Amino acid sequence: MSKGVNYYVEAGKRAMQWHAEYQLKMKKCKFDTIAVHGIYSMQEALDFNQGSIIEPMYMASSQAYRDSDEMEAALSYQIPTWCYSRIANPSMYYLEGVLAMLETYGSDITATCCATASGMAAIQSACDPFLTVDPKNPDAKMNFVATCQVYGGTFQQFAIRKDQEKNIEWRKVINSANIEEWESLIDKNTRFLYGEMPSNPGQAFFDLEKVIAVAHKHGIPLIIDNTVGSPALLRPLVWGADIVIQSVTKSLTTSGFGIAGAVIAKNNLSHLRIENDELKANFGFYIKALPNRDNGPNISPMNAILTLNDIRTLRSKMDLMSRNTMKVAEFLSKHKHIEKVDYLGLENHPLHQLAKKYLVLVDSEYDDLYNEKVNRYGHLMSFRVKGGAQAARDVFDGLQRIWRATDLGRIKSVATIPAISTHSQQGEEGRKIADIPANLIRLCVGAEHADDIIADLDQALGVLDGKKIISTSPEYSAAGASSARLRY
Ligand SMILES: *Cc1c(COP(=O)(O)O)cnc(C)c1O
Repeated sequence: MSKGVNYYVEAGKRAMQWHAEYQLKMKKCKFDTIAVHGIYSMQEALDFNQGSIIEPMYMASSQAYRDSDEMEAALSYQIPTWCYSRIANPSMYYLEGVLAMLETYGSDITATCCATASGMAAIQSACDPFLTVDPKNPDAKMNFVATCQVYGGTFQQFAIRKDQEKNIEWRKVINSANIEEWESLIDKNTRFLYGEMPSNPGQAFFDLEKVIAVAHKHGIPLIIDNTVGSPALLRPLVWGADIVIQSVTKSLTTSGFGIAGAVIAKNNLSHLRIENDELKANFGFYIKALPNRDNGPNISPMNAILTLNDIRTLRSKMDLMSRNTMKVAEFLSKHKHIEKVDYLGLENHPLHQLAKKYLVLVDSEYDDLYNEKVNRYGHLMSFRVKGGAQAARDVFDGLQRIWRATDLGRIKSVATIPAISTHSQQGEEGRKIADIPANLIRLCVGAEHADDIIADLDQALGVLDGKKIISTSPEYSAAGASSARLRY
């Protein structure tokens, strides 16, 4: 005899209730505890996961159902289900749970996360639902207002994929610290505000509370790229932003094991003027269940587990890497071959006071090393080498410990020259407005001992005094020929 759809719906309600209560209990824990355990409980481990102390990783494409009633209840989204790994998956679920909790830590705000295959997919997933034709005014040209100091990939997505290819105007905020500039760009066809802070690589920063007020005055959401700070240093949702995107690839997956992204959105966005009740009720679930189901940008279970593993120690890593970056920034700012160091942690940075308000090491007041709130400014800095583009390349080529790679937020120190890498596609003009000159080196300091990183920079800068670098980088050899990588 059939149990009936309702049987499963009722059972689903009990399960959801149990999970909601469990999450409320977790929410009372400190940041580190949430980062370590997330929403994975011992009870679930014993009931469903062979007692495994690590979250499950099912590489399966899909989930089976007991009978047609359960299938119907599941596929009409009436019971918790993962169904098909393009939409959801148990590993994804635990990653999404922990990110939603960390981004709202220290508040009673609830948020829902939708994990994606990359940070770029997260940006697209967060922005596109607002860029839909208004049935009342179908011919209006839509626009969005976003800072021009954004990650190079974001610049391309906005400038080419949206502005050029889809005729959705990107109105660029040139000086994001100027709140009037944001407001002056908004009109009735503006769909959202978007900002990256601190920006990669330029360290642009703005008064979040003020930009939130501007957005909400106009009934539009503020989307923040919180990749660089991570929830260990900054939680824009708690300040009042509507949606956060993460390139989970970076600070959150410190080890560098893969590419991942996430959208974390506050539940109940009823203050927005967009006429879409499902979207406003629960944006994270909405994009997961509908647009992302149809577009398919979701994360793989393997990447979800790898990043979960890194997130467990996020706070202490962000603390250590920030302290290391501070030491390196201080060293470089006194160096004779350096024209300028951009790091929000330096007191002479014009946005230092503003950054101080927002960039705080979470729970430092409960940490017996500090016993008070301490500022931490993250692992991202940049410096400009005197003597122009070639001098910068010579120094860059002299690095022996710091990896030359277009990456950031790594446990290993990494440097790049944005003008020829991350920000090359946006052209001279695009780099000029974003203030990315050819002699700028972006440096992300990792968790090595700061003295060793400073020593590496010191010897590399010695090139400009005519010192010869004794290269330790391997010569291309016959052994190398066995690698799949092209050698030349
Ligand atoms: C890397 C990065 C992105 C894009 O993320 P991917 O995971 O590489 O797709 C977006 N924003 C910022 C600030 C980034 O550093």
